[in-house]
Amino acid sequence: MTKDEEIPDWVGAQEFYNKYDAKEILGRGVSSVVRRCVDKRTSQDYAVKIIDITPSDKMTAQEIEEIREATVKEIDILKKVCGRDNIIQLKDCYESHVFFFLVFDLMRKGELFDYLTEKVTLSEKETRKIMRALLEVVQFLHGQNIVHRDLKPENILLDDHMNIKLTDFGFAVQPQPGQMLKEVCGTPGYLAPEIIECSMDADHKGYSTAVDIWSSGVIMYTLLAGSPPFWHRKQMLMLRMILAGNYDFSSPEWEDRSDTVKDLISRMLVVDPKQRFTATDVLNHSFFSEYVVAEVRKFSPYRRFKVICMTVLATMRIYCNYRRAKPVTKEVLKSDPYAVKPIRKLIDACAFKIYGHWVKKGQTQNRAALFENTPKAILVSIAAEADDPIQHIW
Ligand code: ADP
Ligand code: MG
Repeated sequence: MTKDEEIPDWVGAQEFYNKYDAKEILGRGVSSVVRRCVDKRTSQDYAVKIIDITPSDKMTAQEIEEIREATVKEIDILKKVCGRDNIIQLKDCYESHVFFFLVFDLMRKGELFDYLTEKVTLSEKETRKIMRALLEVVQFLHGQNIVHRDLKPENILLDDHMNIKLTDFGFAVQPQPGQMLKEVCGTPGYLAPEIIECSMDADHKGYSTAVDIWSSGVIMYTLLAGSPPFWHRKQMLMLRMILAGNYDFSSPEWEDRSDTVKDLISRMLVVDPKQRFTATDVLNHSFFSEYVVAEVRKFSPYRRFKVICMTVLATMRIYCNYRRAKPVTKEVLKSDPYAVKPIRKLIDACAFKIYGHWVKKGQTQNRAALFENTPKAILVSIAAEADDPIQHIW
């Protein structure tokens, strides 16, 4: 071993610590930790993603080299998308042989994942605002031929005004136009079928930008239903569901959702990537296009009349429902608390508060676990586990 290899290169780290004070941990990844940090000169808060590739027993030399290459790629893409709305801004970057320090704007409101955990489900209106911003970012990335490959609520952050910022370009790539990708990466519940197929078939023709639309469809479904479209306690069964595009709108949350939003989701979660909507198709769908400029409206007698009619109808409906409503007694709460929607939401919110952190950690966990409470489902999954080809791959 040469002297250079024995002594770690601290220069990049030193430069970072000369300028910033590192504070509490905001989030963790496989090989990174994200901390709040303060610029010593301006006292401004930022977030720093520290990627530690110090040689250790935990990682092989090859793994270290892979992380180094991936981080260099991540920085390159972050610089390319710099200045774009709804994408996290890389402010500063320090690197040495053993550390990377990526300094970003601090997103105080944290992850969309945690926001959803707190709210359980989002309204169509709020989903529209988030998904429109996300799809505009995806449209921009795909226009540059960049594929993000890890879209999920954990990688969508919220700023002080609850605007989204897409982050974590660790798996993002910019292939040549027309070049297909084959590398298997991403997060299980959000994987597009064609990525799973690549892992099963060495001769597969590969995948492209459409994988981000699939993940966006999974996100959109999850925001509205609270639980994801594809989930099974056994991961290989979940992958099977994805390959077959096997999901439905049967949970009670979907009863109140419009056909328009269901139609859009069903055009994003299409197994054949060629038939799947593109980002532009999604943004042109009536779920978005019918609500473009709701804020600035001229006076219209027809619209005023329509609003009055709808208000009268709604009042009548509320009154009738009120007369029909059964009181929520102790007995109802004891025998079937889940049948009462506000109580159900309250129970879910409390459960999420307790178990949310656990559900987020680990590849095999998923927020759908919070909704899984039928012993029958567990038995079926155990019985079906045997003799499955996907099991050998994942
Ligand atoms: P990884 O590649 O390890 O998943 P991410 O870039 O996704 O790393 O960051 C991990 C977590 O750190 C995020 O999910 C989020 O909770 C937190 N985080 C990352 N960047 C910021 C930021 N700019 N502001 C606030 N929190 C952040
Ligand atoms: Mg991440």
